[in-house]
Amino acid sequence: MTETSDLELVSLTKRYGDMTAVDAISHHFKPGVYACLLGPSGCGKSSTLRMIAGHEDVTGGSIVLGGRDISYLPPAKRGTAMMFQNYALFPHLSVRDNVAFSLRMAGVDKTERHKRADEMLELVEMTSLAERKPDQLSGGQQQRVALARALITRPQVLLLDEPLSALDPFLRIRMRAELKRLQRELGISFIHVTHGQDEALALADEIIVMNNAKIEQAGAARDVYNTPKTAFVARFMGGHNVLHLPQGLIALRSDEMRITNEGAGKIDGRVVGVEYQGTHVALTAKVAGDQEVTGLMPDSEFLETPKDLGEVVGINWEDRAAHPVSA
Ligand code: ADP
Ligand code: MG
Repeated sequence: MTETSDLELVSLTKRYGDMTAVDAISHHFKPGVYACLLGPSGCGKSSTLRMIAGHEDVTGGSIVLGGRDISYLPPAKRGTAMMFQNYALFPHLSVRDNVAFSLRMAGVDKTERHKRADEMLELVEMTSLAERKPDQLSGGQQQRVALARALITRPQVLLLDEPLSALDPFLRIRMRAELKRLQRELGISFIHVTHGQDEALALADEIIVMNNAKIEQAGAARDVYNTPKTAFVARFMGGHNVLHLPQGLIALRSDEMRITNEGAGKIDGRVVGVEYQGTHVALTAKVAGDQEVTGLMPDSEFLETPKDLGEVVGINWEDRAAHPVSA
């Protein structure tokens, strides 16, 4: 339905006074990609997104969409659209008029804008609620309206800032599947900001991990999870142990750890935590250098050879499971 293009960030920088919120980041987003900007609170994700949308001035560098420098264009002229975290719907307008709002501002006549609004409402499965006001909708329904409203401008890139954070966990999982379906159906790029690694893994073709105003690592979701380059990425993605061993700093996935008897593994540790997680038991042990290591034991294995707090166990892993990381 819409053309989509490459989006390039070139040494993009944002300073608020003396504070550098985004520090000369460069990244190339392929057309039609589902990308997640992932990182802890305050690392510069929203500032990056708002600069792309044109809701925040750039301090330095540039934003290039389809070969066109859009860094200084007003938001409506960029080919991007933004969906806000709080949805920002107009309470006095019907669902249909909320969706059509930007077309009204652009002087599109009523028949045409209602036709296009109805197409968008169909896309997000909200046709039957077109006459309602926002306060007569659930959180999930409001979110669909906000999505339809952003998409009606036919953007090449849709920008979403923590779009699922206001929803309860059950709806969040349903809506994330919905977002993915929409992105596939429309074929445009989505850039989705989140601080949740599980959300990023579930959705993203590409994950861009940010830390302290910089891009720490970018790549396919699977690569970032399986081969974190830094200790920060390994810890932030979760499911990993980061260990200082005599041979260096390594990251090891918790599900690659094998818990055996004392002396039978590569290292020994004293059990300090046993947590039942349904299919697995997460066993945490303190090893040399006061470091903690977590291994996942299949539930059935744990039942056969239970481990208790205070017990010394051996911890083993295949050499190929260890990835060197920088501090
Ligand atoms: P994130 O979305 O990753 O949580 P932000 O981009 O919102 O991060 O913020 C990055 C840094 O910039 C934070 O330290 C934040 O306090 C600061 N910041 C964000 N917006 C402003 C602003 N309008 N004025 C001053 N500092 C800001
Ligand atoms: Mg933010």
